[in-house]
Amino acid sequence: MKYRCLLFDLDHTLWDYETNSREALTDLFREYQLQEKGIDNREFINTFEKINNEMWDLYDRGLLHRDAIRNERFHKILLTHSIDDYGLSLRISHDYLIHSPKKKNLMEGCREILDYLFPKYPMVIVTNGFDEIQSTKLSSSGITHYFKDVITSARAGFKKPAKEIFEFALQQNGFSAPDALMIGDNLLTDMAGAQNAHIDTVYFNPMNLKHNSPVTFEIGKLTQLKQLL
Ligand SMILES: [Mg+2]
Repeated sequence: MKYRCLLFDLDHTLWDYETNSREALTDLFREYQLQEKGIDNREFINTFEKINNEMWDLYDRGLLHRDAIRNERFHKILLTHSIDDYGLSLRISHDYLIHSPKKKNLMEGCREILDYLFPKYPMVIVTNGFDEIQSTKLSSSGITHYFKDVITSARAGFKKPAKEIFEFALQQNGFSAPDALMIGDNLLTDMAGAQNAHIDTVYFNPMNLKHNSPVTFEIGKLTQLKQLL
């Protein structure tokens, strides 16, 4: 293979955002005794996932400021369950941001593929997540040492899908676009973003979602990267 450098997305690609979020939400559900406020744990998680995905999608499209995710996410969730308590929502939000990144679950095959790739390629994380939170996720799940660099949108001054964050990641590490391959789960931020920077792509699509985006490669399991790299 012609590639000399691998760029990886973090959330939903390596770090198992869904499982880790569900564990943190279940802890918070108990801690804040939300059952006694008439909420069901499963419904609380479902509402979180729906509202969180909508807000991240707006953020990725440049239609929402990151502080709105932090300050409004749990207020919207509680309102859905007929609880109008902004103070409570801020306390839950604060605790969620502390607890969730400390969860350790990785996507299936993650450690196996990183062990395989580590001696062969320099690897760089390119992420739109919040700075300190992304580094906590890497260290708590024990995968920091696999990566030569971590490029966050705050550090680059641009967020995916802007081509500039990919160009910044390459420039910081001494590579150019034809050297690199971007691996991620998001068709807009990861795939269209890398294509904007003329970087080849691997679409990680574990749910086998239908799409007609022009990705270079597509995989359903991380370990399938062994056949490409
Ligand atoms: Mg992702």
